Amino acid sequence: MIDGSNLTCWLSASVYPYKYLCRSIQKEPINISCRHLTSVVNCDKCRRKSIVFIRYSGAHLCGDHFCDLVERKTKRELRRQMDLKERSARIAVAVSGGKDSTVALHLIHKILGERKDLDLCALTVDEGIDGYRDSSLPIVARACRKLGIEHLVVTFKELFGTTMDEIAGSSRKLSTCGYCGVLRRAAMNRAAKDWKATHLATGLNLDDTAQSILMNFSRGDVERLARLGPHKRVQNYLVPRIQPLRSVPESETLLYAVVNKLEFHDVECPYASEALRNSYRSVLSQLEDKYPGTRHSILRSYEEILPALEKLYPPAELGRCSCGEPTMSEKCKACELLESLAKGRPT
Ligand code: SF4
Repeated sequence: MIDGSNLTCWLSASVYPYKYLCRSIQKEPINISCRHLTSVVNCDKCRRKSIVFIRYSGAHLCGDHFCDLVERKTKRELRRQMDLKERSARIAVAVSGGKDSTVALHLIHKILGERKDLDLCALTVDEGIDGYRDSSLPIVARACRKLGIEHLVVTFKELFGTTMDEIAGSSRKLSTCGYCGVLRRAAMNRAAKDWKATHLATGLNLDDTAQSILMNFSRGDVERLARLGPHKRVQNYLVPRIQPLRSVPESETLLYAVVNKLEFHDVECPYASEALRNSYRSVLSQLEDKYPGTRHSILRSYEEILPALEKLYPPAELGRCSCGEPTMSEKCKACELLESLAKGRPT
């Protein structure tokens, strides 16, 4: 568990952040390292000491100007992804308690929180992972209390009658994360619909986005590539997802959380080693280290070909599964997976 109280130590001892940053991102060093954190160079925008050197842009920034940069990027994404003039918007922010979703909640509240015609809530999905999710819930609850935001919690147990720990221990065809991702998306959509959300915001950052693009390309899943969020079109039974941190690198969400003394959950899920995305994270991290700006280029290239992809795979008409969730076939993916698990279970 991290809160920003280590900031003074962090600013005065340049070795601390490197250790801290490496530990935080699943053992993959991320692209701010001690050689990029400097206390001898002034900020490019003012005369204060810089706290970070951003390799892909070559900028040295102090704490205030670094935060200003992250906030401007987030505002720009919000403007691109939703109509900010829309009255009565209701944004449900999916908050796990990790650094990205915590920063997303904080920034959305900072940018839009003053608006009287807009409602915000935080939404946490408890997958039922012992020793992991239970320790993040109080952190999200504290953040919501501080910001005065309603906090909704939905559990796999009440929605699907099972937990991730039970699924992990059962005979199954997919990795644990293969089930968790599908069920979590269904849980978030269901809870957001119940709350009558007009948008569902996630904490997906630039690294996550570049990894997803690379993953779908490598697997030849072009159709899924065309459907990656953010969603511009409102579709039946599906709350459109927005990704305000889409152009903010993971290292910057972490630094933003530390500089702003935001408390977040820094515990690794016990099933994290099963995630397919780990290999892509590692490849991208090496590429970014060698060629700063790689993640931005991947996102830019994707955005350039997206109109052609959308022509090739226009949004399908979504039907309604018996559980109420959207589906392109008779049954939604979550129901399919739950049924396959039930078949594999001894009677
Ligand atoms: Fe779920 Fe896998 Fe993430 Fe753990 S690492 S929360 S099992 S998706």
